[in-house]
Amino acid sequence: MAETRSGAEVLKENSQHLRGTIAQELALEVPGFTKGAIGLLKFHGMYEQTDRDAKKAGLPVVPGSMVRVGIPGGVVSAEQYLILDSLADEVGDGGLRITSRQDIQFHRVRKTNLPTLVRTLNKALLSTLAACGDVVRNVTCCPAPTHNNAELQLHARTLAKRLKPSTRAYYEIWIDGEKAATAEEKETEPLYGETYLPRKFKIGITPEGDNCTDIYSNDVGLVAKYGANGLQGFVVLVGGGLGMSPGVKASHPRLADALCFVTPEEVGDVVETIVKVHRDLGNRSNRRLARLKYVVEGMGLDAFRAEVEARLGRKLEPAQDLEWASGKDHFGWHKDDKGNWFVGLPVVSGRIRDEGTSRIRSGLRHIVGTFRVNVRFTSQQNILLTDITDGQRGAIAEALRTFGIVQAVELPPVLRDSLACPALPLCGLAVTEAERVLPQISAQIQAELDAVGLDQQEVSMRITGCANGCARPYTAEIGIVGQSVDLYTIYAGGSHLGTRLGKVLFDKVKRTQIAEVLRPVLRNYRDNRLHNERFGEFCERTNFGDFPSDSVRPEQVEVEA
Ligand code: SF4
Repeated sequence: MAETRSGAEVLKENSQHLRGTIAQELALEVPGFTKGAIGLLKFHGMYEQTDRDAKKAGLPVVPGSMVRVGIPGGVVSAEQYLILDSLADEVGDGGLRITSRQDIQFHRVRKTNLPTLVRTLNKALLSTLAACGDVVRNVTCCPAPTHNNAELQLHARTLAKRLKPSTRAYYEIWIDGEKAATAEEKETEPLYGETYLPRKFKIGITPEGDNCTDIYSNDVGLVAKYGANGLQGFVVLVGGGLGMSPGVKASHPRLADALCFVTPEEVGDVVETIVKVHRDLGNRSNRRLARLKYVVEGMGLDAFRAEVEARLGRKLEPAQDLEWASGKDHFGWHKDDKGNWFVGLPVVSGRIRDEGTSRIRSGLRHIVGTFRVNVRFTSQQNILLTDITDGQRGAIAEALRTFGIVQAVELPPVLRDSLACPALPLCGLAVTEAERVLPQISAQIQAELDAVGLDQQEVSMRITGCANGCARPYTAEIGIVGQSVDLYTIYAGGSHLGTRLGKVLFDKVKRTQIAEVLRPVLRNYRDNRLHNERFGEFCERTNFGDFPSDSVRPEQVEVEA
């Protein structure tokens, strides 16, 4: 008997290519959208959210939207950055948020401001289409403008363009109001069909050796291989994805497997074919088991490869081995490929806003506006200012100091190498705090490291408000995952290179006790580590220093509902 399709599948099929009732509801003088429209708005890059703090306090709650701008490779010009910045005041909540996939998010956008926002972005050649939803999301790429990065960025933009939905709905609803399709010229979605993908699909690109993008967490990761004559091609990784769903035993984080090697000329066809395999074979009855990783796992890698080969009509070349030297972000001052400078700056939790003594938003606006330097957002929620001339470097360094924008080395190591998802108060799925408690928790873990004499030790730490893992906690050396009200699961032993998942170290830990429970493991690490051994490597080698002994991998964890 055929399995029942999920409600989301029916919604997509009946949406007339993502139109639904969005346009009609936009014209109504009520603050929010209906459930069906909210489901389709995701494909337009918008999530309607309510302030859960206000609701809890019994205050009037007006729905607003998170709006995500997909930016392939995280690259924007100075002019585009300044437009994003001005929109933060005009229609947002006075800040920009860099996401873990190099997008920019606005928060608390009122319904009446959505058309203005999209139209202004469109004029600036920016788009929210397919930033969310069951489609290929923003294509990420290592943003450092070195080692022929321009070539990889071009691949990111080309793939992003090729894999966008074809529907005119976005332009019709938000931009020009013109209906493109008439009864005679029927609109089609050649790649996605009527029901798009079973679930979101993530693609990332990086050069071999530099895993700043967490390439194994993607549905498809493309790792560039170079030879004497430049770019030889890509090792294609498939089936990564770090989310898991509370209460769904079979769901789990997974790192991608190496599928094949492709030349630069072949890469578009191969990636599109893999997207089609997901479209046709992904789970359409249970969204929690619908990512490509479950297709790969269910078929086995060899059968998955055979499926791709059958559709391409040719054999794929075997994948080559990969080596990784770094998983760090690109902080500090560096020369780029053209002989100019770029500087990587930390942005805690990706929040570009002025708050307290921090004037990061004003400072970036001043620097970008004055020196017309370009901007890149990183997958670790930080920012690069690029194309800086020798003559500008001193003045920009001075401006950074004036606005109190610190260099990464000035931050405590744990905070420097941290990620947090937004969680409360706006994410509807959050069960615990994440971003709002990151400074406090990272300071407590740092204090424990300081106390055992490891004050300069780098340790990657990531925290999320639920098991969906938007800030990729499962590949961190310390991953802190919200489990139920004020209780967290602590993972440890992920690799600083992003090549290994952590294991559960402690379960059901109160927020106030996170640093305390880590204390014996950190002491063990200090006493028994090998020369230059990272915390994650130590935990993996010694099973947390033989403490505790009953640890398990995340895929073995049964998460409570
Ligand atoms: Fe929301 Fe969970 Fe994602 Fe955090 S990890 S943003 S709480 S869905």
